Amino acid sequence: MREAHPGLPDFDYVRPADLEEASRFLAQNPQTARPFMGGTDTFVRLRDGFWKETRYLVDVKNLDGRSEITFDPQKGLTVGAAVSMNQVVANPRVGSHYSLLAQAAHRVASYQLRTRATLVGNVCNASPAGDTLGACLLFGGVLRVHGVEGFRDEPLASFFQGPGRTALKPGDIVTAIRFPLPVPGSVGHYEKLGRNLLSDLAIVGVTVLGHPDSSTASGYRFHLALASVGPVPVVLPDLLTQAPVTPEALEEAAGQAMESCHPIDDVRGSARYRKLMVRNLSRRALTRVWEGLQSGYRGE
Ligand SMILES: Cc1cc2nc3c(=O)[nH]c(=O)nc-3n(C[C@H](O)[C@H](O)[C@H](O)COP(=O)(O)OP(=O)(O)OC[C@H]3O[C@@H](n4cnc5c(N)ncnc54)[C@H](O)[C@@H]3O)c2cc1C
Repeated sequence: MREAHPGLPDFDYVRPADLEEASRFLAQNPQTARPFMGGTDTFVRLRDGFWKETRYLVDVKNLDGRSEITFDPQKGLTVGAAVSMNQVVANPRVGSHYSLLAQAAHRVASYQLRTRATLVGNVCNASPAGDTLGACLLFGGVLRVHGVEGFRDEPLASFFQGPGRTALKPGDIVTAIRFPLPVPGSVGHYEKLGRNLLSDLAIVGVTVLGHPDSSTASGYRFHLALASVGPVPVVLPDLLTQAPVTPEALEEAAGQAMESCHPIDDVRGSARYRKLMVRNLSRRALTRVWEGLQSGYRGE
């Protein structure tokens, strides 16, 4: 039987001088070298024996310009890769324009862990249970990536390929995540069900973003993302557009969310429980957003 925590193996800590050196080193050692930021996933995976081939941990958090959050009223928000969850939660620009992102970041683990854990690390880790993935997807996040051939953009919509698998290639280092301006009047809400309120991964996570839209019959458009119910986040765009938004319509959309996912049984919950919780939490999140849209509330 595999030991639960075999312990940290020997590894070399590598601190490159710049992004070019870091990408080159990672590309030259594709099986054995990994980049890391806060290390909150990295060291647990290493300690628990999941990454047996890793020999080099490449610290990419201290390279220039990646610990800042910037906001441009024309272009939107840029969160540097080394920005911690607590910085995201506390940032006034995030709070006033992307409060759903702050809300989701606030649900990651505990305060102590959030001082180390980064938003970009959560995304690159590509856990189906990642709390911030839904908000990042619904806000149209695009990763800025430095690889051996230079910089490129990687939209999140096509980034996640399976648990722990992404569109990143050996040598790629994410330097930031960018979000366009949200649609005016957007309201978001995140519902997370864990085994406890603190420091546990989601059994189910439901993220909802809604906004007024004069081109739809309902006058609104809602987008929903599900965590922990499949190998990659499930996104249901463009809900509640066809008819007036009523309690029945919200219930129907929640049922649609439940039917759209195919979770598995695992230690944190059965597939059946998860599906039912998707329906219940979706109903709650959609209702909160709808109430917010009517009252001008923008999300907690
Ligand atoms: C006790 C505990 C509780 C937790 N609870 C939660 C929770 O409630 N919700 C939740 O979502 N997560 C949770 N996590 C997971 C973790 O804290 C988050 O995923 C965190 O945001 C990861 O960020 P990091 O900077 O620590 O990532 P790291 O560990 O540094 O990296 C994570 C992964 O991303 C890759 N990576 C990191 N940075 C880059 C980069 N710049 N370019 C390319 N690849 C990169 C690494 O190679 C690695 O594969 C928990 C972890 C622990 C230990």
